[in-house]
Amino acid sequence: SAKGAGKGTWTLFESGMGEEASERLTLRAELHRALENDELVLHFQPIVDLKTEAVTGFEALVRWQHPTRGLLAPDMFIGLAESTGIIHRLGAWVIREATGALRRFQDASGDHELAMNVNVSPLQLENAWIVDVVRSALEVAAVGPRCLSLEVTEGVFLSDTAMVAERLQALNALGVRIALDDFGTGFSALGYLERLPLEGLKIDRAFVSGVAADNRGQVLGAIAGLANGLGLSTVAEGIETEAQLAAVRALGCDRGQGYLFSRPLPEAAAAAHLATSRSSGRPSASASR
Ligand code: C2E
Ligand code: MG
Ligand code: MG
Ligand code: MG
Repeated sequence: SAKGAGKGTWTLFESGMGEEASERLTLRAELHRALENDELVLHFQPIVDLKTEAVTGFEALVRWQHPTRGLLAPDMFIGLAESTGIIHRLGAWVIREATGALRRFQDASGDHELAMNVNVSPLQLENAWIVDVVRSALEVAAVGPRCLSLEVTEGVFLSDTAMVAERLQALNALGVRIALDDFGTGFSALGYLERLPLEGLKIDRAFVSGVAADNRGQVLGAIAGLANGLGLSTVAEGIETEAQLAAVRALGCDRGQGYLFSRPLPEAAAAAHLATSRSSGRPSASASR
């Protein structure tokens, strides 16, 4: 720790913290303006059927095109959006924008089963407004509710679970699907798998990265088995190598997502990827790696 490391280190450590704190304050002020200034942008990462490698949909991932700092990843600002309450408006923007993009992807490809996954912060579920946001986004874009999948993390279980369950039921009643994101990294409250209206599990990259080496696929295999037993679909996150692909396939995962297939792409590139994958299987995997 900094305490035991001598005076010089302590000072360095403190000034480092100070910079970080004031950096966060600046970012917080800027995030307030980012929505009005249209600085947020969605990238789309293909999700593929592991049997055929056909693209079955996309996950929408938000980025902040900051005027001076460049393209910021969500880890830089989602926590800030949550602590300031901006997450509600930001999340609503993501839902509308992703649903609109889904409509354009469906029209361009002629595939009206194509799906869109949208990440939803646990905090967004505390606000009943999200149900209206999802309903009207589906109406405006005129896409089938089954094509929209909302990803929630196990963090939802940290808040009032009765309220969370009620909100998820209301969203499910609209016809949208609910998936548990980053499965296995939280505290995996297995009881909720039966009680919540879940359609699928997204198995965290942590279990996929080691899967091809040694025997570390055992947890992933067990999760896939659990999901199959409960009638839940599975998406393996973070597939980067052919060996990992072969392993998650053998372990019985339905779909996959990862740099092996494609990184998250801006909308035009995602549409091009989709068009190419329709005609010739896995398209620009080597180019996007
Ligand atoms: P997530 O929902 O688990 O999204 C998957 C993350 O893994 C994405 O990071 C994606 O770029 C990355 N990824 C995908 N394939 C691979 C791979 O093969 N290797 C590696 N190393 N990484 C891969 P990203 O875009 O930086 O997003 C990070 C997290 O930020 C997301 O994790 C999600 O929890 C959150 N997030 C993103 N967009 C939104 C949003 O619109 N709303 C909310 N509330 N959270 C969001
Ligand atoms: Mg996700
Ligand atoms: Mg995830
Ligand atoms: Mg994650």
